[in-house]
Amino acid sequence: MKILVINAGSSSLKYQIIDMKGEKLLCKGIVERIGFPGSMLEHKIRDEKYKITQKMDNHTDALNFMLNILTSKEYGVIKDVNEIEAVGHRVLMSGEDFDSSVVIDDNVIKVCRKNSIYGPLHMPAQTDCIEACGQIMPDIPMVAVFDNTFHSTMPPKAFMYAIPYEDYQNYKLRKYGFHGTSHKYVSQKAIKYLGKENSRMITCHLGNGSSLAAVVNGKCIDTSMGLTPLEGLIMGTRSGDIDPMVLDLLVKHKGMSLDEALDSLNKKSGFLGICGVNDFRDVVHLAEGGNKRAALCLDMFQYRIKKYIGSYYAIMGGLDAIVFTGGIGENSAIGRKVIMEGLEHLGIDFDFEANNQLKKGKFAELHKPSSKVKVLVIPTNEELVIARDTQELVKNK
Ligand code: ADP
Repeated sequence: MKILVINAGSSSLKYQIIDMKGEKLLCKGIVERIGFPGSMLEHKIRDEKYKITQKMDNHTDALNFMLNILTSKEYGVIKDVNEIEAVGHRVLMSGEDFDSSVVIDDNVIKVCRKNSIYGPLHMPAQTDCIEACGQIMPDIPMVAVFDNTFHSTMPPKAFMYAIPYEDYQNYKLRKYGFHGTSHKYVSQKAIKYLGKENSRMITCHLGNGSSLAAVVNGKCIDTSMGLTPLEGLIMGTRSGDIDPMVLDLLVKHKGMSLDEALDSLNKKSGFLGICGVNDFRDVVHLAEGGNKRAALCLDMFQYRIKKYIGSYYAIMGGLDAIVFTGGIGENSAIGRKVIMEGLEHLGIDFDFEANNQLKKGKFAELHKPSSKVKVLVIPTNEELVIARDTQELVKNK
């Protein structure tokens, strides 16, 4: 079964075709600047990269162009669109309407439109893309795989905000969590590695956006992101946890509109706000060159993560494994080092030498043999989770 995986953003569209026989990636790519001058498609097949510029005004144009490329003689991996047996769409969130991936029908599209209030940047574009795809490929089944549903096993004590209860009832204001496909993928791999279903682990997805999840026996019981991806850790451009009264001062005293203040917390804060760069490699580079703000930024980054690790240790009553994934978690030895320093009292005997030696993006064990807690690096594969869920649901349809 060949599955097309689609991950749409407001002006972008990432895609992969995965052959589920052997879970083989056939090609991948990204369409960028949809609706803007200079829109283009970058297509990767067998380690060759192609950049093709093309005017694309909306997601329908982008999908049509992408399908032309996928079936073309020069860049294609399929002869005909009908070779695609199912399409898996990444969708930001399901609200409380679904607690797992679903086959897309009119009701699912309606629910996605309704839930756009929780993700006004992503959800409208993702729903547009689902509709466009349904029109272009009406006979091919589609599945929605949500970023939050892995966290739907959280108990109310973890997901409720202590705000008036009717605001939860009327608006479903609560913690949902994100990066669910990544936390699911790496926690399942870690369970296989540990060789036992009964396990307590903390999965750390550290990238531009970052989140931690506490996973007990394969089920999430808490996670650091909230109603939106803004809550939790210090990220590339997001503040993470903050006293909401900061907004009051930004609005009343700095003279920002509420939208400007929220934009600042989402896009101008985090690493960027503290030291002027949002890429973790640049933060490290500046810190190593003696930049005090960048050093502070690294310090704040590891401190916040340690606080979450400590609190998850406490609620789980112990820990079998910590798993690192995402651009920083998989690739940055210094990122992992600053987090792991000083956690011996939790039974973590981290192998700093092995950490230093680790080549980019590889599965690795980074604990010493004597360590009570295993420390693993597991490269994530969110698209594969989407493809697996899609295959499963389409097979059982
Ligand atoms: P996204 O959340 O957009 O999917 P990624 O998971 O790709 O992001 O992570 C991007 C982050 O990973 C950036 O901050 C980048 O600096 C960091 N990163 C990527 N490669 C490396 C590397 N080799 N060393 C250190 N950091 C890296």
